[in-house]
Amino acid sequence: MRSRYSAYCVRDIDYIYRTYHSSCRVDNPKAALTAFANSSHFIGLKVLSCEQSIPQGYVSFNVRYMQQNVVYEFTERSRFLFEDAWYYVDGVMTDTAPVKIERNALCPCNSGKKFKQCHQHRLSGN
Ligand SMILES: [Zn+2]
Repeated sequence: MRSRYSAYCVRDIDYIYRTYHSSCRVDNPKAALTAFANSSHFIGLKVLSCEQSIPQGYVSFNVRYMQQNVVYEFTERSRFLFEDAWYYVDGVMTDTAPVKIERNALCPCNSGKKFKQCHQHRLSGN
């Protein structure tokens, strides 16, 4: 699970695609994964719990990321299936209300810079 998060951070789309269960790949084409990863900057991940009893596993986590000038946050309980490795199948997501970032506020990435001098211009949106 952590490895999938890291893959989003470094935009390793092949890895994300490969770790989707085969039944989910049609719904998560590489182009969509790429568009999401390229327009998002991940800020933090907290793994809340992890249960593994082959062939099924659950990981609950909380993640924050920004897109353009908005911080998004959600908590998800992900379901994984073990075949030759663990594959992500689906998850139940709880969204937190998105928060707009003001130009002069500190950038949520914790760089210590103002948003307008940091990620405001680095995030291409669509
Ligand atoms: Zn920043």
